[in-house]
Amino acid sequence: MRILIVGNGGREHAIAWKIYNEGYKDLFCAPGNAGICEIATCVDIKVNEFSKLKDFCIEKEIDFVIVGPDNPLADGIVDYLESFGIKTFGPTKDAAMIESSKVFAKDLMKKYGIKTARYNVFYSYEEALTFVNQNDKYPLVIKADGLALGKGVIIAQDKLEALNALNLMMKEKVFGKAGEKIVIEDYLKGEEVSVFVISDGKDIVPLTVARDHKKAFDGDKGPNTGGMGAFSPSRLVDKKLFEDIIENIMLKAIYGMRKEGRPFKGVLYGGLILTEEGPMVLEFNSRFGDPEAQAVLPLMKSELLEVMVKAAEGNLKGVEARFSDYYSICVVLASKGYPEKYETGFVIEGLEKVESDTVVFHANTKIEDGKIKTAGGRVLNIVRVNKTLKDAKAKVYEEIKKINFGNMFYRTDIGDKEIF
Ligand code: AMP
Repeated sequence: MRILIVGNGGREHAIAWKIYNEGYKDLFCAPGNAGICEIATCVDIKVNEFSKLKDFCIEKEIDFVIVGPDNPLADGIVDYLESFGIKTFGPTKDAAMIESSKVFAKDLMKKYGIKTARYNVFYSYEEALTFVNQNDKYPLVIKADGLALGKGVIIAQDKLEALNALNLMMKEKVFGKAGEKIVIEDYLKGEEVSVFVISDGKDIVPLTVARDHKKAFDGDKGPNTGGMGAFSPSRLVDKKLFEDIIENIMLKAIYGMRKEGRPFKGVLYGGLILTEEGPMVLEFNSRFGDPEAQAVLPLMKSELLEVMVKAAEGNLKGVEARFSDYYSICVVLASKGYPEKYETGFVIEGLEKVESDTVVFHANTKIEDGKIKTAGGRVLNIVRVNKTLKDAKAKVYEEIKKINFGNMFYRTDIGDKEIF
């Protein structure tokens, strides 16, 4: 089978690595990175160049396409490729709206009885202003409707911050169209977990749980990032709670999407918060998390490709995914200054020194003059699996000491939330 993976991050490297280790070596990746190129043929086509991707698939007789990132899904890459008869894993544009429109997602949850924060939707600055002027409960959560590179959620601690958020989104329009509509919702308190399932639009295969670390610095300080590390699974979600989440959240969402005429095929990611009143949904995503995929996939014992192909074919009934009972930790090595300004082009040293049990997933790397160099904010993901989270953590940080590049920085507390 000839497979094309679309994307260039750590998530796509983890997907490629998993499939490669399942024995599928006929792999291509567009555009890929220096790490992916070691196991797949990388092609210089960007994720938003749909027509070029289609031409490539036809020319190379690609049997199956896997789309990693959210933007091309929201822009309809699956609809486009499938219209040329190219079998593709991922939701259609209509189904990807569960991530690309917060208003759509919130209304879906309300309609199908999925627990989430109480909310209101606003279509104009004036309406939102009236609401904020009358509100006396803080913090208040203000969300841009559309995709905003993970920056579209503002937790306002007081009225001034709430007014600033409205101004930013609806007057200055810093998120463009994404901020034309906004959701204002109650602030929920609790620990956050991410739950992943794969669906064919009707049935689902539950995968597992992971926990992300969104803030740039130790102790959850500093600005939000794409994610500075993850671990899997989480002891906060035992078997019973996992089944409850699958039944009352994930399956209900899949059912709702089907009823709405938008059957969801692909990875459905529930961003949940465990409150005193039980698990509630903060958001749904329409693809694997990055860096959660890098922590989750090394624990997956079943064949990922088989589940993906069956999902794309609408044929998941009876399929299960088995996972190791070990723990995995992924630490992101980033460029100092990320998520704001940072320099790139530094040579990465020491990769040859890491043990064979350590998995290195590349994010933003490139090969220049025969050397692997940094090429973005998040550079590498270092992953280690062990019997306990504590041992996985000790080992992964020991391994990280062997790696070096200019301006390297990383969090030193990934996993601490559940190491007692
Ligand atoms: P989202 O993109 O909707 O998941 O929001 C990004 C982050 O904002 C989440 O991971 C939470 O940390 C935080 N957040 C979003 N909504 C809420 C809420 N209703 N209450 C508390 N925190 C929230």
